[in-house]
Amino acid sequence: MVKKTDVLIVGGGVIGIASAYYLLKAGASVTIVEKSEVGLGSSHGNAGWIVPSYSIPLASPHALSNGLKWLLDPESPFYIKPRFSLDMATWLWKFRAASNKSRVRKAIPILRDLNRASLLLFDEIIAGEHLDCHYQRHGVLTLFISKGDLRAGEEEASLLQKFGLDVEVIGAHEIQGKVPTTSSAVVGGMYSSEDAHLNPARFVGGLAGKVQEMGAKIVTDDPVIGLDAGGGKVMSAQTRSGRFQADVFVLAAGAWSEPIARRLGLRLGIQPAKGYSITVERPQGFPELPLMLGGSKVAVTPLEGMLRFAGTLELSGFDMNINRKRVGAILSAVEKYLRFHPSELPILERWAGLRPCTPDGLPSVGWARGFSNLIVASGHCMLGVSLGPVTGKLVAQLATGATPDFDLSLLNPGRFS
Ligand SMILES: Cc1cc2nc3c(=O)[nH]c(=O)nc-3n(C[C@H](O)[C@H](O)[C@H](O)COP(=O)(O)OP(=O)(O)OC[C@H]3O[C@@H](n4cnc5c(N)ncnc54)[C@H](O)[C@@H]3O)c2cc1C
Repeated sequence: MVKKTDVLIVGGGVIGIASAYYLLKAGASVTIVEKSEVGLGSSHGNAGWIVPSYSIPLASPHALSNGLKWLLDPESPFYIKPRFSLDMATWLWKFRAASNKSRVRKAIPILRDLNRASLLLFDEIIAGEHLDCHYQRHGVLTLFISKGDLRAGEEEASLLQKFGLDVEVIGAHEIQGKVPTTSSAVVGGMYSSEDAHLNPARFVGGLAGKVQEMGAKIVTDDPVIGLDAGGGKVMSAQTRSGRFQADVFVLAAGAWSEPIARRLGLRLGIQPAKGYSITVERPQGFPELPLMLGGSKVAVTPLEGMLRFAGTLELSGFDMNINRKRVGAILSAVEKYLRFHPSELPILERWAGLRPCTPDGLPSVGWARGFSNLIVASGHCMLGVSLGPVTGKLVAQLATGATPDFDLSLLNPGRFS
């Protein structure tokens, strides 16, 4: 059976759903095809941060020096599973090439502007559509327990300040006032007031409900097996249940965008980077302030009656197993920074997700090279939630022939081919 729609979106994560929302607002008819359930990919159990202060891309001189130190330690925040993979070797080579000061300085303004625009769109969508997703704007506090990490934090703060971001270094005494449960080992911190947080699964689920009310068709449990192309155009998407034709196709399948693109002869350069979260019952008195445990790179997010610890970046392919050692490392990091034992709190969920990571830490948003009707919206790495709404809006602008709000040249999906 062949079904026809204006726009067909592959993938029902935060990017696919936000794209559907803005396409529907622009008057397009939309179908989303999802291989499992909406919002169950990387968009489900992540930390839920919306963070203009995270506008320094993952590929940076700091990440490179730390990455080399952490590389093969199975309990470190960044881990590469030893295996032979030409794609991985190429990705690491390009990551290294992007990790220099001049590339970082070029990347910060676009990430900052996209993050800020997205934050305003979150305000608009959540209020306008009455989404109940625990949206809070209290900033993010990073804690440091070593002088070395504090110095690195001061350098990061000064770089962000140069680009106009509202971050400040604060002392241990002020931190105790904000978060009374911090351990006495904390020597200082960095507070970024512009940041916000929410429950990502509730946001994506709520917005998916809205787009259905607005007329989108969401087809679940129906993986796209391939995209058929001819004459520089995608003609149809073949799924398990049938064939979908559309005027425009949007590839928003997160980490899985790469294998789908490969079948069209495209290379997006995206690697899956696994992370974990452990959600526990929120201890009494824990404030409504997300924390980053600086040296350990563990994010702590209060979500109503829950507290979520999220972290690690593991390059181990599409393997979704939960590595107990690495989950244990997240929980023991918490004990170094905070005065409670997370392993004693009732665990509500253990989760693993695959971040879609490009080597330069920038997302890929734009027309696919060689195809006049295929938009790529993927590769958001650690910022898919943060950049979800603005990406959705850009996809709708591209699809409808409007001028995008931002210059997308640094996000060109063909830059790694
Ligand atoms: C531990 C952790 C913490 C994080 N914390 C944050 C944070 O605080 N803030 C932030 O901004 N980001 C965070 N991220 C990153 C964020 O989760 C991702 O960037 C974001 O979810 C990517 O969204 P997406 O829609 O591109 O991908 P996904 O959410 O993975 O969605 C892709 C969808 O495509 C579907 N799909 C795949 N293949 C096919 C196919 N063949 N056919 C049809 N459908 C298909 C999948 O099932 C999936 O539902 C975190 C990630 C992790 C792992």
